[in-house]
Amino acid sequence: MRGIGLTILAMAFATLASAEPLLSHPPSIDCSGMAQQGGLIVCRTEPNAKVKIARGEDDFYFENADENGVLFVGFDRDENDNFVEYAGERVSFDLPSRDYDTSKIDGLPSNMVNEYSEEELKRIRAATARKKVGFASREEEIGFKDGFIYPIQADYIKTTNFGAQRILNGVPKKPHYGVDLAAPKGTPIVAPADGIVSMADEDMYFEGSLLLIDHGQGLISYYLHMEDIVVEDGQHVKQGEQVATVGTKGRSTGPHLCWRLKWRNRNLDPELLTEWPSES
Ligand SMILES: [Zn+2]
Repeated sequence: MRGIGLTILAMAFATLASAEPLLSHPPSIDCSGMAQQGGLIVCRTEPNAKVKIARGEDDFYFENADENGVLFVGFDRDENDNFVEYAGERVSFDLPSRDYDTSKIDGLPSNMVNEYSEEELKRIRAATARKKVGFASREEEIGFKDGFIYPIQADYIKTTNFGAQRILNGVPKKPHYGVDLAAPKGTPIVAPADGIVSMADEDMYFEGSLLLIDHGQGLISYYLHMEDIVVEDGQHVKQGEQVATVGTKGRSTGPHLCWRLKWRNRNLDPELLTEWPSES
């Protein structure tokens, strides 16, 4: 009796196993956000999943999702084809090329462009070393949730877009990775999203003053040229909380905020994240 019962049960299971699944299983990785050059996506996958991030079949590396299965992925200024892959599932991104401006600034003092004294070189090197520490921050807590707000909530004039090709005193330089917002000296500057201050330094050679806010997993907002920084290293900040005031310190030709964003070693366009798609 018992034997027959088991056989019937086994047959029932065999039937179930061979039948087409009524519901397809949820994807093992799913990403949403701003899949554009300079953009960011948020991928949801399994907790601590080791996800392949690739710029080509032979150009890839791995990053771990956090304990909730969340992983940020950013796209640099000139990236085109990308994919992320986990458990045999691939999400591909074909990023169209964006048009970038050319931005020329003349009349900068030469010791801000290409001629440095020994003393200045010493300061530049020391500042670079401190910056490296700030950018190595990898906060576990996710502060970036549903997009950025503009760091200046008062009136401002946008003078440079992300990615502009820079020519300083006639010398071609690296692209300008920031969005420049001109506003009067002393205008409050706020955090674009929640995060933790990973650097607050008012003695930088080029930047003058530099503030870094880690929004999680090394998604780091940074602000340059401020008059005053009013938060400290290690401090938690909330979206909209004042962190600094507009100034013109360092290599700057007038009061403005240079607003930048990095994910790991990639330069993102912070302004794109103000258009973050809503969940619904
Ligand atoms: Zn700038």
